[in-house]
Amino acid sequence: MAYQITSECISCNLCQSVCPTGAIKMDGDRPWIDPELCTNCVGTIHTVPQCKAGCPTSNGCVKVPSDYWEKWFNTYYPLVAKLTKKQDYWETWFNFYSQRFSDQLQKRQHQVA
Ligand code: SF4
Ligand code: SF4
Repeated sequence: MAYQITSECISCNLCQSVCPTGAIKMDGDRPWIDPELCTNCVGTIHTVPQCKAGCPTSNGCVKVPSDYWEKWFNTYYPLVAKLTKKQDYWETWFNFYSQRFSDQLQKRQHQVA
């Protein structure tokens, strides 16, 4: 499966100059990858796909998933990684809202008494 440009691409054009097969073309200022020319950099001197390696965004160029599950994991792994790195975010969120809820409850009980 070839690589493809995603909506995260910022059109910096760095990938076009490093592609060893000339697979990256331009449509106006937006790059796209010709799947007939993209070899995933296999058979070249490069050990990793050059478009992905040099892309300043995390997901500007990605491998086209070969099946449903590959696509599913490609989508959800980065989301899960973001969430687990931000564990303190959810703790802060929980502490804040539980405190607010507790304050409101005490206020309500005070009004009823
Ligand atoms: S994976 Fe390699 S051959 Fe394919 S577009 Fe990217 S740089 Fe070009
Ligand atoms: S290197 Fe990444 S951000 Fe730059 S043009 Fe290529 S895909 Fe887009």
